[in-house]
Amino acid sequence: MKIICVGRNYVKHIEELKNVVLAEPAIFLKPETALISGESIFYIPDFSSNIHHELEIVLKIDKAGKNIPMEDAVSYFSEIALGIDFTARDIQDKLKSKKLSWELSKAFDQAAAIGNFIPVDGLNEPDQIAFYLMKNNEKVQEGRSSEMIFNFNYIISFVSKYFSLHAGDLIYTGTPKGVGPVEPGDVLKAYLEDNLNLEIRVK
Ligand code: ZN
Repeated sequence: MKIICVGRNYVKHIEELKNVVLAEPAIFLKPETALISGESIFYIPDFSSNIHHELEIVLKIDKAGKNIPMEDAVSYFSEIALGIDFTARDIQDKLKSKKLSWELSKAFDQAAAIGNFIPVDGLNEPDQIAFYLMKNNEKVQEGRSSEMIFNFNYIISFVSKYFSLHAGDLIYTGTPKGVGPVEPGDVLKAYLEDNLNLEIRVK
């Protein structure tokens, strides 16, 4: 399986990192070794002193496809979860300033936390999914799928032009504003429509 991630998909997050809105989504990959699931411990790696949480809606692809038309994309996933795209912001800033690719800041071990998958059927309209992240007792990120620049169907259609999708592939669909650092001792709890979906303790 592979993990495909969308960067810069929420206007207010683009503004907080002083980036520009792109005409096409920014895409990067994480390897399978980045995945941590369920109730897990995230160990801050020693190569970074500024690991950020990025809370995102994650789609699980459930059948193979390539060049998927937008109007068919909805039939390629039936479950979603919340995930955290852990990012070594200090390394990413360094790489960006040298116009190098982001992998070292995004694809390291444990950089893709994933919650419990739930059927899309049981949710509000896919374009109205509400989600938020509590860090300790503070709400730090909050978003709605309606705020995405590129919606689920667009993302699936776009990435499948470049990568064949297989059952089990995950797509992290971008983070809303409120990204910020994690410290040892932090507890991150992510809620999808007010239901606890993912819990990570930081060490
Ligand atoms: Zn992200």
